[in-house]
Parts: sequence; structure tokens; C-alpha cells
Amino acid sequence: MKEAKILGVSFSTLGFNATVSDLVARAEAGQRTHVVTANPEVVMIAKENAGFQSILDQAYVVPDGIGIVYAAKMLDKPLHERVTGVELVDALMQEANTQGWKVFLLGASPDVNRMAAARLEKDFPGAKIVGRRDGYFSADEEQLLINEINAASPDLLFVAMGVPRQEFWIAKHWSQLNTPIVIGIGGVFDVLAG
Ligand code: UDP
Repeated sequence: MKEAKILGVSFSTLGFNATVSDLVARAEAGQRTHVVTANPEVVMIAKENAGFQSILDQAYVVPDGIGIVYAAKMLDKPLHERVTGVELVDALMQEANTQGWKVFLLGASPDVNRMAAARLEKDFPGAKIVGRRDGYFSADEEQLLINEINAASPDLLFVAMGVPRQEFWIAKHWSQLNTPIVIGIGGVFDVLAG
């Protein structure tokens, strides 16, 4: 993957369509990929938190928002197009719809999680929502949750627990999870729940 370093964070330089194609290929190949849609806030957190920076160093980081694209322009880096979480979820769900992919939805309040699932089921009937769980659970519930996700064996795992909580959660459980494409999507379930 081609990358451009902006304020210490290595971003994928693929545009939106190429990013989607690349993630689809990774999903089909079972190539495990942690996607971070990084806006300027994410870059600032990484500057102050070495643990978070090292998570980004291992992840597939895409530029979420025009602020990163402007920064790239000023720094003369080859990064021309933003790749937002909302658009990425939509494009990957379109693929899930045509390919019958399995999807697990983790995060947000119980109501928002349920409403986001209903919306995705309506808009993408060919995709299979094989599991979902709100983002408010205790540490001693985590092992069962990981087991549940792995048993459902989704192609896509969306984690909507806010930045940087979702990235830390994904990194902490990365070695145990078997999902190919895992994406932190912040408040996207709230958007879907309308
Ligand atoms: N969230 C969650 N678990 C938590 C905290 C937040 O699932 O422990 C969810 C929250 O319900 C919302 C999403 O994460 O759906 C984004 O939360 P927030 O607005 O706080 O994060 P930000 O948008 O600032 O990343």
C-alpha cells in the first residue's frame, strides 16, 4: 500500500474507489485489516499518545475529512481525496449486499445499534447482519463477545464506539479476532439511526 506521512501518521494514498476495491480484495482474500478513518483529531491524539500512535502504525489509515487533504496539499503529499467513514460503510455495504457478506455491528447505545441495523437491513437486504451488540459492556463480558463475533464469522466488523476507544478496543482484541475487515466508524451508527 502506498502511503504518505502527514504529521507523523502514515495515510493510504489510494482515492475513495481504489480504497474500496482494495478492501474488497482484502475481504475476499481473508487478509486481516484494521481500518482507521483518521481526521485531524485522530492525528492530534496520536501526537500525544504513543500507544495510539503505534496502533496507527500497524493499521490501514485513510484520510477522513478535508482537513487532512488540505494538510497534505500544504505539505505537498500525494493525497488528494478524502475517504470518510460514512461513505466507506455505504460502499462496503453495497458490496456486502451483492456478495451476501456477513456483517457484525458493534457499538453505540442499544437503541441506536438496533435502529442502525434495521436501516442497513432495509437498504442492503442481500447483506447478512449476523450479530450486533451495543458499545456499553463491562470488561468481564468481553471474552464472550469476542467468542460471539468469531462464531458469527463476519466478513466485516464495524466498531462504533468513538475515537480513540474503538481503536484501542480493536487493537486489544486483534490477535483473538478472526474477521478480515475491522473498521472503527465513530458515530456512523448514530447517523444511520437518524
Ligand atoms: N460509544 C459506545 N461506547 C462507549 C462510548 C461511546 O458505543 O463506551 C458510542 C456512542 O454511543 C456513539 C459513538 O460511540 O454512538 C460515538 O461516540 P462519541 O460521540 O462520544 O464519539 P466521537 O464521535 O467523539 O468519536
